Amino acid sequence: MNTESISRTPIHRLRDDTIKNLYVKREDMIPYSFGGNKARKAFGFFKQIDSGDYDYVVTYGSSHSNHCRVIANMAADRKLPCLIIGPDEVSDRTYNSVMMETFGARIMTVPVSEVHDTIEKTLEDLKAEGHRPYFIMGGGHGNIGTQAYVDCYNEIKAYEEETDIRFDYIFFASGTGTTQAGLVCGQILSGDDRGIVGISIARKNPGGRNVVIQSVCDYLYQREISFDRGDVNQKTLFIDDYTGEGYGEGNDEILNTIREELILNGMPLDSTYTAKAFLGMKKYVTEHRLEDKKILFIHTGGTPLFFDDLSKLGR
Ligand SMILES: *Cc1c(COP(=O)(O)O)cnc(C)c1O
Repeated sequence: MNTESISRTPIHRLRDDTIKNLYVKREDMIPYSFGGNKARKAFGFFKQIDSGDYDYVVTYGSSHSNHCRVIANMAADRKLPCLIIGPDEVSDRTYNSVMMETFGARIMTVPVSEVHDTIEKTLEDLKAEGHRPYFIMGGGHGNIGTQAYVDCYNEIKAYEEETDIRFDYIFFASGTGTTQAGLVCGQILSGDDRGIVGISIARKNPGGRNVVIQSVCDYLYQREISFDRGDVNQKTLFIDDYTGEGYGEGNDEILNTIREELILNGMPLDSTYTAKAFLGMKKYVTEHRLEDKKILFIHTGGTPLFFDDLSKLGR
């Protein structure tokens, strides 16, 4: 798979009854393993794997993880063994977990409190056996993941230049915060000023926001770009008002959002990430009276999770 070919994902307008100028960037249409932000990040990790001397891929995530599905797919297409360490607590069967099995990934579940030590020990054991493992943090966190969303930010800029449409706000689902960190870095690097609003799908402040800020600083530091921490703070809008019951917990309002968007725009959303963020965006826009602004929603993927939700949509 030539990674150049993923650029650029489409941006198109959505019909909406409250936001007059609502657009969406379809990261779910990245043409590899159902796409999504985890696919965009994974291309970066595998570029490093392909140019290095590795014979094993190890990562972390639950049975719902879009990240683990994409990593297992990319490892399988290279015939590299892949080990996924996951929390016992979230190991029910999902379309993502069935795909991980199909790709032949080895799945190891442990209580969440033991995850950290298990990863360390597993990597040591593999090395002792003579392997050269490559470890990818859960969700594709880290500077390589951040870079993927700096690139995405630049795609948005290129679209704006071509069309003369300028987005006042960019909304998306924020989890580990890597996607958000990349977008904020992209904004800082290009000297723009607009609202980049991450809708948290689980984490609370100040912790959630601090992780984004730290990721932004790590990236800019590594690239030796001088920056003002106050500026980073001010540009990082991590909104934790719409997390509901927490990670993966949908409710009727979220399921209604999935149904409505599927009918109105033919666009699939899922209850863990994109529908939660889409609904959060709509509430935020109403609360802050942004109905007349030009708004871009980044659809970060998760199509297999949409199918997990489908049976709950009813009629
Ligand atoms: C992982 C994920 C997110 C969150 O991305 P982060 O970079 O971890 O903040 C959002 N949407 C979908 C569909 C995801 O799989």
